[in-house]
Amino acid sequence: MNDVVVSVKHLTKEVALAQGNTLKVLDDISFDVNQGVFVSIVGPSGSGKSTLLYCISSLLPPSKGKILIKGKSPYEWRASKLAKFRRKEIGFIFQDFQLVSSLSAYDNLLLPGILNGQKIKPPMVDALAAKLELTAELHQSIDALSGGEQQRVAIARTVLADPDIIFLDEPTSALDTHSRQLVMKLFQELVNQGKTLIMVTHDLELAGETSRSIVLRDGRIEREIQMPAAETVRI
Ligand code: ADP
Ligand code: MG
Repeated sequence: MNDVVVSVKHLTKEVALAQGNTLKVLDDISFDVNQGVFVSIVGPSGSGKSTLLYCISSLLPPSKGKILIKGKSPYEWRASKLAKFRRKEIGFIFQDFQLVSSLSAYDNLLLPGILNGQKIKPPMVDALAAKLELTAELHQSIDALSGGEQQRVAIARTVLADPDIIFLDEPTSALDTHSRQLVMKLFQELVNQGKTLIMVTHDLELAGETSRSIVLRDGRIEREIQMPAAETVRI
């Protein structure tokens, strides 16, 4: 299970500012991620974490460099093929959730399946909702839910679509300690099933539970921390 599923080579991202100026948000970033690994991306606010996650997940084209996801080069595709790839092969948990606020939590969970032509069975929805302690909230409108409940619905929606690779932008930012533990347990289960998780987080305790941390500063990789695998720790 050492296949590289995300490969980033010399990624640079510049954005246009006023008066013809440009800002280099990411500067010559290279790394590979193997299948079945839980990677965290950490660093101060403004260091480029979200931009990096968007670039490596097919959502934001880089200015320079190459990104391969499962050996494919999505930025070279036409829009319809790219949209299908995003729906079917990757999952993204957005920092601002991107739920449909007028719908119920339940309908939000079913929506990606409807768009994908994927049959999501009610028992799967119920089991995942129970795991994230959302059963009582399932038939409420998103508008009526707290931030933490909405964040768990956003997580459940992505997990139900069953992608191989999940990109997560601050997925515990609105959660209390108990919900955070529920969510981390779910993430670990996904990794144990062979899924690859790449997570931006401010939460160093959370990063400590991943197997590898990439530390960003001013748009560059400052260092990498490899956590020891549990079974290799000897007292
Ligand atoms: P982080 O997620 O680590 O807080 P971001 O990736 O959101 O960092 O942003 C990194 C820096 O780049 C910030 O200073 C941000 O303001 C700037 N930035 C990112 N995208 C744009 C953009 N489209 N236009 C202008 N500035 C941007
Ligand atoms: Mg961010």
